[in-house]
Amino acid sequence: MKYAIRLANHALNHNEVPVACIFVYKNEIISYGMNSTNDSLSGIKHAEFRGIEEIIEKVTSIPNYSDYYKEPKDIFKDIDLYVTVEPCVMCASALKQIGIRTVYFGCGNERFGGNGSIFQINRDKTVSENSYTSYPGIYRKQAILLLREFYTRENSKAPEPRSKKNRLLNKDNFPELNWANYVSKEEFIQLFGEDKLSAFHQNTDITNVDDEMVGELENDDISDIIKWSQKELILKGIALWLTPKKGTHISETLNSLSSGLRLLFLDSPEFEPHITITSQLKVENKNDVNKILGTCLAALGKDIKLNLYFKALVVNSKNPYFKKVHFAIQRNEYLVGLAMLIRELFVTEDKESAELWALEQFDPHCSLVYTNLSHFDSASIKTIKTRVEDLLNLSDISINQEDDLFKDLDIGWNGGMLKIVNCEGNVQDWEVLGAVDIH
Ligand SMILES: [Zn+2]
Repeated sequence: MKYAIRLANHALNHNEVPVACIFVYKNEIISYGMNSTNDSLSGIKHAEFRGIEEIIEKVTSIPNYSDYYKEPKDIFKDIDLYVTVEPCVMCASALKQIGIRTVYFGCGNERFGGNGSIFQINRDKTVSENSYTSYPGIYRKQAILLLREFYTRENSKAPEPRSKKNRLLNKDNFPELNWANYVSKEEFIQLFGEDKLSAFHQNTDITNVDDEMVGELENDDISDIIKWSQKELILKGIALWLTPKKGTHISETLNSLSSGLRLLFLDSPEFEPHITITSQLKVENKNDVNKILGTCLAALGKDIKLNLYFKALVVNSKNPYFKKVHFAIQRNEYLVGLAMLIRELFVTEDKESAELWALEQFDPHCSLVYTNLSHFDSASIKTIKTRVEDLLNLSDISINQEDDLFKDLDIGWNGGMLKIVNCEGNVQDWEVLGAVDIH
């Protein structure tokens, strides 16, 4: 959402209504949109439409897209939208028809809102079969401040805009956020956790205007976002994995956790526990595979131990299929450095965007379960927690927040195997193309 806020701020600086969005596919920004109603004098150029059009164009330009998606719009079942203002009735209807996976927005749209403020198009079965969950309140105050600034300027026609700092630091007088208009209590818990539930009952915000973001808005440069969104869309997912070595303590632990938890989900396939260092590798043949693995070995050298440890146990439904239940992994310089290098050489072919990706988007984690289940009730969260505690021999670990308990675990993920894996199609069809031992 921070990226969407930056785009909205950019729109404001160009005298457009400050509403903007980004679309995220496989953890990457693949498209963005900003309002251009003023500029084009057309009432329908809403941010969402621009983003959708661009994605459809990208998909249809891939000759064999139908190997992956029956129709171009089917890609939206793997795409999440982050938009600063609740989609209007028209956009909500379009998003529903293309089958967007999840929407996250900043503030409500009190006049035309289609996700709960006025109508709840996203859940209306008469519009189309699809339905999506739409979460309000993500950087809501920031989104409101941007809109207020726009309308103040419009109304006063003030030649000199007030200083950006002042407008962005004005933290008073926000309307209540009536969560129940948009999401159920269960959905709220899935995304934000039970500990935040008081916000749901008291109609208050989860996020505040933070000084760090105000600082970021001082700089109007959005070239990084544009660059990401212009990257070629690659549907085939060849990834570099780090897996623990068979027979080690960490390998046994993760395997028993994963197989134990899979029993709780009917749709969860079996897979090898791993940390994805990057996906979207450009691999054409065996030679490319060897080259990537060789580069990894050279980069890590003999003496570097990755020494990874778990940071948090994450259980929620906001994330895609692959991230519903996972351990977040503490980043360290070697892991980030390796991701950055491989990304630069074999994904982006551009140092700057590889660095940005590694610093801002790289999110090392180890999944325990893959599932499409989008509802976790507190009973199943409790079961997951208990199973993990039993298997790791820990008591009372936290869910969805960093936990120092993991630091004392002697799990010894100090190396393992690097593998190039073709993750196309069903999980059962994934294929290891090559592997090296990094000890
Ligand atoms: Zn709209």
